[in-house]
This record gives sequence, structure tokens and C-alpha cells, in this order.
Amino acid sequence: EGDERCNIHEIIENCLLILNNKIRNKIRVSTNFTSQGAEVKGNEGRLHQAMMNIIANAEQAIKEEGTIEITTLKKEDHFEIWVEDDGEGIPEENLMKISDPFFTTKAPGEGTGLGLFITFSIIEEHNGHIDVKSDGDRGTKFTITLPL
Ligand code: ADP
Ligand code: MG
Repeated sequence: EGDERCNIHEIIENCLLILNNKIRNKIRVSTNFTSQGAEVKGNEGRLHQAMMNIIANAEQAIKEEGTIEITTLKKEDHFEIWVEDDGEGIPEENLMKISDPFFTTKAPGEGTGLGLFITFSIIEEHNGHIDVKSDGDRGTKFTITLPL
């Protein structure tokens, strides 16, 4: 456990299939897989869980309609995954808190506030890191970096 070869593109496609019912009609999803190989060493189930959390948050941030753009890039020694949405964005004062356990801005019953806490620990387990940028209400960009 923990050092299988995982195909990131396959993991992302599976997340999109699972979210398909929620995404359809509301969201235009575009995937821009720029690299041929997308294999990283890791635990496939855990990486799936991490990507699910990030993509589901993007879906939930889009209230009426919008776009989710998922880009992958293979760099010299690491792999990058960008998940960008044009949803409601994250206010500056919340950016430091989003990975805290139980931090949520969602209505009771709609969010546990554990998704990103778990996601950050999964990515750390894989010796990667996550960077978050949000431009007011123009949306949010998550960058997930994983070593090759
Ligand atoms: P939950 O989804 O249960 O609220 P998470 O840990 O997944 O918990 O996310 C914590 C909080 O981070 C969310 O409640 C939301 O305020 C913020 N957040 C995360 N991703 C996004 C996003 N893509 N756009 C806007 N806000 C986000
Ligand atoms: Mg969540």
C-alpha cells in the first residue's frame, strides 16, 4: 500500500464521472491534460479521495452556472494539477482556515469542513503540496503538486 503507480488522468476522469449528475447542465468542464504520462507513485484510493474533495468543492462553489477547468502539467521533477473554478471564491480572511478541521462556510448538513483537511494530509503523505489562490469573487485556483 502506498506505492502503486497511479494514473492521475484516470483518477480525474473517474471523479468527473461520479460527479457527472451534479455537474451536467450547470457546469462546463474542460480538461487540459498536457502531458502524455500521468503516473505518480502513491495510494490510488487516497489520491482519488483528494481529487474528489477538490473537484466537489469547485462544483459547490458554482451557484448558477460556470466553468471548471482542470489542467495537468508534467514538469522536470514533479507533476502539477490545476483545478480552477469561476465560482464564489474564497475571501482573503478564510484562505488560512480552509484546511482546518471543521472549517466550513456551508449550511449545516451540507458540509463537514473535513474535506480539505483530509485532502491536505493526503497530499502531504505523498510528499506533495497544495497552493490556493482566489481572486475575490472571480473564482478559485487549486494547484496540487506531486513528486514524480
Ligand atoms: P466543506 O466542503 O465540507 O465545507 P472543505 O474542507 O472541503 O469543507 O472546504 C472548507 C471550506 O473551504 C468550504 O466550506 C468553502 O468555504 C471553502 N472552499 C473550498 N474550496 C472552495 C472553492 N473551490 N471555492 C470556494 N470556496 C471553497
Ligand atoms: Mg468539501
